[in-house]
Amino acid sequence: MSNNNYGQLYVVATPIGNLADFSYRALEILQQVDLIVAEDTRHTKKLLQHYAISNQLISLHQHNEDQQAPKLILKLQQGLNIALVSDAGTPLLSDPGMPLVTLAQQAEIKVSPIPGACALIAALSVAGLPMNRFSFMGFLARTSHARTEFFQQQLLQEATWGFYESCHRIVACLQDMAKVFPLEHEIVVARELTKLHETVVRNSLKQVLSQVISDPNMQKGEFVVLVAGMKIITNSQQLTAAQLHILQVLLKECSVKTAVALAVEITGAKKKLLYQTALELK
Ligand code: SAM
Repeated sequence: MSNNNYGQLYVVATPIGNLADFSYRALEILQQVDLIVAEDTRHTKKLLQHYAISNQLISLHQHNEDQQAPKLILKLQQGLNIALVSDAGTPLLSDPGMPLVTLAQQAEIKVSPIPGACALIAALSVAGLPMNRFSFMGFLARTSHARTEFFQQQLLQEATWGFYESCHRIVACLQDMAKVFPLEHEIVVARELTKLHETVVRNSLKQVLSQVISDPNMQKGEFVVLVAGMKIITNSQQLTAAQLHILQVLLKECSVKTAVALAVEITGAKKKLLYQTALELK
């Protein structure tokens, strides 16, 4: 239950490129609150100027949010209404804000979302991949070794999954993925969504990688990468995750025939099942 004397914290999504992707309610809230807490006040100032909103701005970013959050809670407890925004999209999604929202909830301050743009959801909405279940992995590690290990862990992920990537690492990241995933595995690269150079490419990992490598424009801007879940045979004789993993590793190095023969020896699973699975994976 919220205390009536307390102010409210509004978590407000802002555009991810196209400034028109901003709701009437978001504009009203930014105008009406006592204070706007922004990841980068200079960046938010431009948005406010575009919509002729004048309001007080305070900065809250990953390097100061642990110190700022308790001070903001005091203001909320004194009755001030506060809006939290990040540079783009929905706050807290790979963006600052978690300590403030958590503390507000603990202090029984009402926290209301003002929904809007989010790069992940925008990418999912046009990807055409199953969305009944999906996982978001945020930004991946910066080193090739850690990324490759991560991709190995994701190999058997059955649901659609995705992550954010920057222009500095998109090529290296897809190359690491190709070391682990079957080259025919389906992925989607969504770039510069809602902006002038918006591009959404859905194809095999091999095709997408070669397109990104051969076209320098495909290496610019901001990226969401979505990955189809691994198809796993669903009959009653399903392979275990470990058996499937071994088969996948072998298939990367050997022909179907050799991979299946080795997998039979290593895993003891039935040859027919391994063979059917190998044909699905290849
Ligand atoms: N909170 C934001 C959201 O709701 O999408 C994301 C913030 S995160 C710091 C920034 C990352 O989101 C970028 O590096 C990129 O991976 C992704 N991103 C943001 N805007 C994008 C866009 N217009 N097109 C594609 N990806 C975008």
